[in-house]
Amino acid sequence: MTDARWQAVARATGLLGADGVPRATVFAEMSALAARTGAVNLGQGFPDVDGPTSVAQAAADAILGGANQYPPGPGIPVLRQAVAAHQLAHYGLRWDPDTEVLVTAGATEALAAAVLALAGPGDEVLTLEPFYDSYAAVIAMAGATHTTAPLRVAPEGFRLDLDALAAAFTDRTRLVLVNTPHNPTGTVLTTTELEAIARLAQEHDAIVLTDEVYEHLLLRDDTGARPAHVPIATLPGMADRTLSVSSAGKTFSFTGWKIGWVTGPERLVTAVRTVKQFLTYVSGAPFQPAVAFALTEPSVAVWVDELADSLSRRRDLLCDGLIAAGFTVVRPQGTYFVLADAAPLGYSDGAELCRDLPALAGVVGVPVSAFTHAGSDVDRALRSWVRFTFVKREDVLDEAVRRLRGLRPTPGAQA
Ligand SMILES: *Cc1c(COP(=O)(O)O)cnc(C)c1O
Repeated sequence: MTDARWQAVARATGLLGADGVPRATVFAEMSALAARTGAVNLGQGFPDVDGPTSVAQAAADAILGGANQYPPGPGIPVLRQAVAAHQLAHYGLRWDPDTEVLVTAGATEALAAAVLALAGPGDEVLTLEPFYDSYAAVIAMAGATHTTAPLRVAPEGFRLDLDALAAAFTDRTRLVLVNTPHNPTGTVLTTTELEAIARLAQEHDAIVLTDEVYEHLLLRDDTGARPAHVPIATLPGMADRTLSVSSAGKTFSFTGWKIGWVTGPERLVTAVRTVKQFLTYVSGAPFQPAVAFALTEPSVAVWVDELADSLSRRRDLLCDGLIAAGFTVVRPQGTYFVLADAAPLGYSDGAELCRDLPALAGVVGVPVSAFTHAGSDVDRALRSWVRFTFVKREDVLDEAVRRLRGLRPTPGAQA
């Protein structure tokens, strides 16, 4: 007997308990633990400061101005035009706002609709590993098989294993789900890595679906330079087989608005729209004009740039604190997140550390096992790793760092 789809989803996300009842996600478990213990919650990644007031005002004006009924199915024209203009200005990608841009209920719906539209039983969907948790769920909903290519810790950070990538492709690989900048590792894929994915996708005639919600959250390195975000759709021959997904949530610090979009060639966007139509149909009528304003208003672009700089500083603050506490960290190049290895603290299991951390240090993180397939080689390699977010106010991070200092065993103290 096969699982019902909801059981397949629970199983794919590691949530199906031995009793057949799904458990809460580790994100919910850790947030509840933080609330119960008063720990600083560096688990779930959402900003504790809202985005620009001018953008919030635009949404408020839209509500009072009557933008309160169903918007057009593909999204309001002014937002589709703003998304098309953004792709052209930043990346030189030219899409027709009427047929090649679709507004969705966040990036989550865009990804779900794309996977449901393009993959089914017998198909493989290849993602990086570790992977964002919704990928495994939606691949299971589609009845497809989830295969992965590992990111491995190297001196330069987490890097894609190109041999393992090539080995992960098969003739059944229908869709390759790329994510850069990458959650949870904070890696920004290099052009070499993206070219390897592109070449293999072409050889195997696979479609690429790329999650670029952190496209503007690029962090400075020691020399003060920011890494370049290269959309895989810009590589030779790729625009015609790539669906690019992004959203307003991370870029503008309005994660609760859930306005996302997908761009790509008409035949692929039509496939996504056909499914999306019957998931939510439409969403966020008053937020759509506000996001169009955010995408086109120069002062908001300056705000986003300052956010990325502020995140660079907050990354350094948290990384230095984690190192001082005894963790090994890989300094992220983008996103809100840093991965830290708890092995030097004597923990071989990140989940165990996460359950102990509120009592030990008054801080909450999320084990990297929430982003891996149980028992995979990445799962084993990153068993002792934990994800922390730094998209919190500096005073909150200062407090977390102060508390974490108590974690390091004092030299000479009794073991
Ligand atoms: C937050 C996040 C999303 C979800 O974006 P929404 O626009 O809120 O749906 C998708 N992918 C990654 C990697 C994320 O971190």
